[in-house]
Amino acid sequence: MDLKQFITIVPDYPKPGINFKDITPLMDNGEAYKYATDQIVAYAKEREIDLIVGPEARGFIIGCPVAYSLGIGFAPVRKEGKLPRETIKVSYGLEYGKDVLTIHRDAIKPGQRVLITDDLLATGGTIEATIQLVEELGGVVAGIAFLIELSYLDGRKKLNGYDILTLMQY
Ligand code: IMP
Repeated sequence: MDLKQFITIVPDYPKPGINFKDITPLMDNGEAYKYATDQIVAYAKEREIDLIVGPEARGFIIGCPVAYSLGIGFAPVRKEGKLPRETIKVSYGLEYGKDVLTIHRDAIKPGQRVLITDDLLATGGTIEATIQLVEELGGVVAGIAFLIELSYLDGRKKLNGYDILTLMQY
């Protein structure tokens, strides 16, 4: 299936000069959403994944159906102040300023093989921070899966040494 037909490119969103890749038409189409999910499920089986971890909010949209399909768990990575129990945190650079991501301290058992999911790989900053959280808890990042990779931003360089699956490249 050609998944790109379900991605709408929105010019000048959220700022002039940015061509935003909108994945909501893909999610809106049951066949396309299932097809994309099944590709990631197959990859997760190959990589013998024990647990899915995804950053809010679109990392949930990609990761949760994969976890459900495999009958394994999903641990959310969230912005500071959103998780109710003891967390660890990491701050990471954004284009302007900084942001903080957190995960529950007991979300991962040491040695668990983790698949990180998100909708889109741009500069790789979000996933680099997510990797730090997983590894600090003793998890093994056994794979990272995205719907979309913006190849021209070279995010893969930041994730050097990790196994990456992307279903569409621009
Ligand atoms: P990175 O940290 O620079 O790799 O940015 C990736 C994050 O920004 C992901 O969590 C995406 O949800 C979001 N993002 C950046 N550009 C786009 C886009 O064109 N469409 C949808 N999400 C985007």
